Amino acid sequence: MAAPAREASDPLESWSEGRIRSWQAERINEVVQYAHERSAFYRRIWADHDVGSPEVRSLEDLRRLPIVKKQDLLTAGEVWLRSGEGPVGFSTRGTSGEPLILWLSPAEKDAYVIPTARGFRWAGLRPDTTALLLSPGWHRLAAMEGHAAAGLGARPTYFWGSLGGSEHVDSFLDAMEETRPQFVTSTPPFILAALRRCEETGRDPRDPFRHTEAMLLVGLPLTPGLRDFLQARLEVPRISERGGTQEGAALDECEAQLEPHVHADVCYLEVLDERGEAVAPGSRGRLVLTKLVPGGSPFVRYDTEDVAAFFPGDCRCGRVLPRLRIFGRPESSVVVDGRTITAYDVRRCLDEDADLVGRVTLLVRGSGHPGILRIAVEGRPFAEAALKETLCERLGVPQAEVTWLGDARVTWGFRQVIEVSQLHGG
Ligand SMILES: [Zn+2]
Repeated sequence: MAAPAREASDPLESWSEGRIRSWQAERINEVVQYAHERSAFYRRIWADHDVGSPEVRSLEDLRRLPIVKKQDLLTAGEVWLRSGEGPVGFSTRGTSGEPLILWLSPAEKDAYVIPTARGFRWAGLRPDTTALLLSPGWHRLAAMEGHAAAGLGARPTYFWGSLGGSEHVDSFLDAMEETRPQFVTSTPPFILAALRRCEETGRDPRDPFRHTEAMLLVGLPLTPGLRDFLQARLEVPRISERGGTQEGAALDECEAQLEPHVHADVCYLEVLDERGEAVAPGSRGRLVLTKLVPGGSPFVRYDTEDVAAFFPGDCRCGRVLPRLRIFGRPESSVVVDGRTITAYDVRRCLDEDADLVGRVTLLVRGSGHPGILRIAVEGRPFAEAALKETLCERLGVPQAEVTWLGDARVTWGFRQVIEVSQLHGG
C-alpha cells in the first residue's frame, strides 16, 4: 500500500466558502449515486419518500432527502450491512444500545488520512519526531493515525493495551519512557487515569511526558479548565482536541484553539432541530452527517444522535472551514426542566475550580424529579453551595443536587451517566 504523499500544502485550507460549497455538492452527488447503486436500504427509503433516483446539484437538493436514524439501519440488518462491504469492519461502542457495524474501504482510508494529517499538523506534529498513537482498533478514525503520522514524516509508535479504564495505564507509561514521544494522541479519561496512577505511586507525572511537545485528545470533549489543568500538571506545552464519529464526522482544532474546524473534504454536517430544520449558529441541535467519500458504508443525512452546535463568526486562523462542537450523545445527557444537559456542560462548570477539575463526574438519571439536576462527583465534598449555584446559573436549571462519592473507586468512562439505583448500590 503506497504511503500518502507528504503534504507541503493543503488546498482546502485556502479555498473560499463558495468553492468549498460547490465542491461539496459535487461530492454529495457522487455519494448519493454510490449509495443508490450499492444500497438496497437507501433505494428503499428514498423510494418510500418519493425521491426516486436522486440527483443532488446543490446543498438545497440534499435537504430533500430523508433523515436516516441508527435504528433504521439496525432494523434493515443484512440489507444495510451489504451496502458498503469492505475489507475492514468497525463497530460503534453500542453505549446507546445495539452496536452498528461499519465497513471501511481502502479508498475511504486514503481520503480520511488527509484530514487526519491536517489535524496533526495543526496540533503540532513535526517531521522526524516520534508519535505515540491511539490503538488503531479503538476507533475508526484512529485507524488513519499511523498512516497520517508516517505521511508527515514522523515515526508512529503504539503501546500494548486498550484505553478503557486504567488497566493498561502502566503499559502506556512504560511506552512513554521507552519511546520518548514528542507527540501523543490519547483520550482525556485515559490521560487522567495515567495522572492518577502517577499520584498513587509517588511518581512525578511530568517525567513520562518530559519529551512531549504536543498532545491531541479525542473521545470526550475537552473543557477549557481541563486543558489548562493537564498542561500545567504534565507540563505539555500544547494540548489540542479532535472530534468525530465512527460514521465519518471528522473535526480538529486549529492553532487558535477556538472550537474544532470541520474537515469539509470528508464530511458535510448539519445541525437540525426536532422538525429537521437547520438551527442558527450558536444554537444546539442534532448532528446530521453526510459522508463525502463514495466508499465503505454510505451515510447520507444520517442522524448521529449527537448534540452539537456550529460556532458563529470567523476563526482567528483565517480558515473558512466551519467550526462545530459535539457536546455529547443522549446517553451522556439528562433532561432537566425540559433542557438537555450534557456531561460536558457539567464538567465545564466543575473544571473551572482548582479543587474539582478532573474529578470523575457523573450525571444521575432516574431520580424522579424532572426539575432537579443530580450529579455525583468523586472525592470529598468541596464548596457544595457555590457549586450548586454555579450549576443552576450557568445551565439554567431550577435546582441542583450533588452526591459526593468519597473514597468509592470510580474510574473515568465515556458514558458519564449512572442510574440513581446504581448510586445507592442497588
Ligand atoms: Zn481556526
